[in-house]
Amino acid sequence: MSIFIGGAWSYANGSLHIGHLSSLLPGDVLARYYRLKGEEVLYVSGSDCNGTPIAIKAKQQGVKPKEIAEKYHKEFKESFDQLGFSYDCYTRMDTGLHHEVVQKVFLQLLEKGWLYKKKEEQCFCETCEQFLPDRFVEGTCPHCNAETSGDQCDYCSNLLNPIEFRNKACKTCDDEPIIKSTEHFYYKLSSLQKEMEKIISEAKINKTWRENAVHLSGRYVKEGLVDRAVSRDLPNGVPVPVEGYEEKKIYVWIEAVTGYYSASKKWALENKRDEAEFWNENTIAYYVHGKDNVPFHSIIWPAILKSINKNPLPTYIVSNEFVTMSKRSYRLAETGLYGYQIC
Ligand SMILES: [Zn+2]
Ligand SMILES: [Zn+2]
Repeated sequence: MSIFIGGAWSYANGSLHIGHLSSLLPGDVLARYYRLKGEEVLYVSGSDCNGTPIAIKAKQQGVKPKEIAEKYHKEFKESFDQLGFSYDCYTRMDTGLHHEVVQKVFLQLLEKGWLYKKKEEQCFCETCEQFLPDRFVEGTCPHCNAETSGDQCDYCSNLLNPIEFRNKACKTCDDEPIIKSTEHFYYKLSSLQKEMEKIISEAKINKTWRENAVHLSGRYVKEGLVDRAVSRDLPNGVPVPVEGYEEKKIYVWIEAVTGYYSASKKWALENKRDEAEFWNENTIAYYVHGKDNVPFHSIIWPAILKSINKNPLPTYIVSNEFVTMSKRSYRLAETGLYGYQIC
């Protein structure tokens, strides 16, 4: 039996702390357990060195995103080594291999007809002279009225589009952004409604996903899955591999989760093995992370895998709750705190 274990990728924009460890530790326990049993195990993770949280921090500190990513990736790797985490491969998202693999997945989705282009309205900061994706925009959640930012409300967990926020402000300069039109690639997530309903109801019956994962995912499919933009106007990340769109970056919804596959490829290359040993329908796949990562592992990643005919889908989802501190749940993405999560 082959066991694949994917530990969540921490954003390289702030130091690790007890919250990361409590949410990631179950992955290491599983890896050691299955190795002792004599099973073939591939346990991977890495540092998320792309994306908006790092771009924000770099802008605030007046340095290049790469400097921030470099500093924290090194720190993460040393911390995990010292703590005895037994990853078979701990990598990072700014490697050439990762970019190559993500672009290949993007092109596969495009060729198979899962992506289409559409113009959309987006927040644009005239002071910073750039489009503001997700976490660059702060405001009030239109569903629960809490102060929030990004593409998912910290409080009510609804998926958000920042143009819906009330009292919008640019996270970098605090000025109010304007709404401007830009063209992006969209993923036909809505076409997978039936498949996702089936996957979630099977996970519920078999008790293979944590209750919070079943509950949250169930809520998303009940509300109806909607097509999602999968490219962004961002300074760092993986360029869209389509002529005329190279300035745009592949959005984290495709990029980050594909890291599990690119890390497997890296491991295979370094160990003269084949990642296909763990990417087939006979492998049992565990995904270990915090609850803010649920939809990416319970909906987005299974949807992508289905769209490009790759197995296994996530068999087990080990998603951990937040612990609230000072009356607020923190997410790694915005604060570097990630919430003090319990297993
Ligand atoms: Zn809300
Ligand atoms: Zn601004």
